[in-house]
Amino acid sequence: MINSNNELYLTSESEDRPHTPSYLRPPVAGRAQSGSCSEPSLPQSRSVEFDLSPVPISPTRPKSPWGRFDPYNNNEDQDKEYVGFATLPNQVHRKSVKKGFDFTLMVAGESGLGKSTLVNSLFLTDLYKDRKLLNAEERITQTVEITKHTVDIEEKGVKLKLTIVDTPGFGDAVNNTECWKSVADYIDQQFEQYFRDESGLNRKNIQDNRVHCCLYFISPFGHGLRPLDVEFMKALHEKVNIVPILAKADTLTPTEVKKKKIKIREEIEQYGIKIYQFPDCDSDEDEDFKQQDHQLKESIPFAVIGSNTVVEAKGKRVRGRLYPWGIVEVENSAHCDFVKLRNMLVRTHMQDLKDVTRETHYENYRAHCIQNMTRMVVKERNRNKLTRESGTDFPLPVVPGVGDETEKLIREKDEEVRHADQQPDSHHHYDHEHESEHYSAHHEPSESESNAGTHTDQRDLSDEAL
Ligand code: GDP
Repeated sequence: MINSNNELYLTSESEDRPHTPSYLRPPVAGRAQSGSCSEPSLPQSRSVEFDLSPVPISPTRPKSPWGRFDPYNNNEDQDKEYVGFATLPNQVHRKSVKKGFDFTLMVAGESGLGKSTLVNSLFLTDLYKDRKLLNAEERITQTVEITKHTVDIEEKGVKLKLTIVDTPGFGDAVNNTECWKSVADYIDQQFEQYFRDESGLNRKNIQDNRVHCCLYFISPFGHGLRPLDVEFMKALHEKVNIVPILAKADTLTPTEVKKKKIKIREEIEQYGIKIYQFPDCDSDEDEDFKQQDHQLKESIPFAVIGSNTVVEAKGKRVRGRLYPWGIVEVENSAHCDFVKLRNMLVRTHMQDLKDVTRETHYENYRAHCIQNMTRMVVKERNRNKLTRESGTDFPLPVVPGVGDETEKLIREKDEEVRHADQQPDSHHHYDHEHESEHYSAHHEPSESESNAGTHTDQRDLSDEAL
């Protein structure tokens, strides 16, 4: 049965999913395998002269569709009995690859700190071809803009939809008070959109634009953090994963880099800024892994160098910056933390950044919204109760999680109304029915009502509600 299920699955797979890279596609059971999926060490069939496909070692074990990716495909396991669920990770892996991945990265910090150059260096793209730079006069009154660039990149059959959110104009104006606000609003808007889509009908095709990580660029020329840096990070640390970056590290000597990093880490601590925390590694991890993890944590803020040009260094063409006194190589870990940052962002922590966004930042936002919506309903109910007492309104539904006192009062009032209705001489019967109709029509959440409930500005309403 397992075998036939697999065969069915594979048939539809090969027809419906033509783009899945072959190395991730389980081989069709019973057919000859292509070179990459066959296991060269397995014995060849003795009975069929031209059949070069490997046969399972154990005759009782159906041939696995996972070929060399089959977790049971070793000599030791051949005679044991298994249900087969160790292939579950393969199935998840395969589905995710088919679906593709997405990641939204925000870059923030004063202009000229090398944000665009670093993004191009990180993802080997040229995302800023059409960028228009403003002159000093234009920048005096400039407000912070939010721009979005999306690129689809593919490597070894794995697709990544990368969105870069940039914040041109941040810190550029003469007065930069609250210039972090539009960035915070943007992040909230993405949460709000997701919250609405999630509560809507078409949940299957939700476009997730939530910001998963914010690289915050710190100037190498100051003495640690500037007030604007502190303000920005404090305003955003509960909305997004902040990863601090020490920009243009080639302008500093190694000793200066070291001192600046310590100072910035101390200030982050001192001001209570909660930057993205790398998850602790398990105690049973090997020493190498623990060492790498320690180094990664010590690298904060990542001292980076960016470059859009390829230069020749020691006979090799590398991304770097050419100076009269030598070359700085972007990908040389003796020169900067670029590789560490890229590995962290792409190879090791991309999924964790997404998980923290979903489980912590978005959850906080969502809980806040629901709380505000509940408060609004209570407020509305209290208002209606008052109107009803003056003889013109109708009963309200019970909303879970609202204050006990209010709940009790409303129930008592509803009871009174019901009691009055049941009296044979009640002459309000018609009116009450009429009121109920009016109520349900009135309480179909209108577009504006539900929008209002999910909008962050509604926070202001919350405290006066009860
Ligand atoms: P953005 O405004 O933050 O996006 O900064 P840009 O990426 O446009 O870079 C501003 C200037 O700094 C350009 O002249 C870049 O060539 C230069 N630049 C970018 N990265 C570095 C770096 O790592 N070191 C040095 N020394 N200059 C850099």
